[in-house]
Amino acid sequence: MEITNKVIIITGAAQGLGRAMAERFAKHQAQLALVDLNEDKLTETVAHCQAFGAKASSFIANVADETSVEDLFEQISHHFGGIDALINNAGILRDRMLVKVKDGKIVNKMSLAEWQSVIDVNLTGLFLCGRECATKMIEKQRPGVIINISSIARAGNIGQTNYAAAKAGAVSLTVTWAKELARYGIRCAAIAPGFIGTEMTASMKPEALERMTSQIPLGRMGTPDEIAQAAEFILQNDYFSGRVVEVDGAFRL
Ligand code: NAD
Repeated sequence: MEITNKVIIITGAAQGLGRAMAERFAKHQAQLALVDLNEDKLTETVAHCQAFGAKASSFIANVADETSVEDLFEQISHHFGGIDALINNAGILRDRMLVKVKDGKIVNKMSLAEWQSVIDVNLTGLFLCGRECATKMIEKQRPGVIINISSIARAGNIGQTNYAAAKAGAVSLTVTWAKELARYGIRCAAIAPGFIGTEMTASMKPEALERMTSQIPLGRMGTPDEIAQAAEFILQNDYFSGRVVEVDGAFRL
């Protein structure tokens, strides 16, 4: 797919990886529908994209809410006349040990709310946006691409029961959709980033971050634009579908 003039939706575009992808596609003069809950920062991303001469509009929506997502895709499809690509990027962390034990006594557990909130945004959010995006593409008989942002944590990671499960689920959705939607000209692929320098990683405990970084064979965290470059490759390569691009500096959990 040639990126220029294509209508690309990016969820979680207010900062971090979402903003970096928006800026990279803006340089190609894509038409960007940028989605987030953080209005102030989303406005900044829109301004950055417009500074590259691209068309960019902001949409405030919660990707985990079915009615909001249905309205969102209706609005975007109407506003731009169709949709060519979706980057399912919005995500959250609510890390905690499944069961925490101190001096032989159980002192804490991951709550159902911590489990559910991460599943809602990082997995149900992908399902809802992917479903509505595919619906619009099929209705308009317009081929397209869906990219789901997974994580190296999909292999399983201490303190991330909720996040690891959601990110493994993101890959299952990817493979399933690549098979189901190919007949409509829709490709689907995932990106599994390693540790990337964004607000999300900055929110980790410094000692945990330092421990992780010291184990990365390439010796540093990735940059958001290095993930945006992977998304660019997936959009542009018309034979890439149903697979995961791992961008992690050779780090494995
Ligand atoms: P970030 O926290 O910097 O940005 C996430 C954005 O998503 C925020 O702007 C936030 O407002 C938005 N968001 C959260 N919940 C939302 C909701 N319900 N509806 C709409 N928007 C919502 O995170 P990031 O580091 O840029 O990560 C982006 C994606 O990449 C996430 O899915 C994350 O899990 C994944 N990822 C990040 C890393 C990393 O090292 N940073 C590694 C692997 C995977």
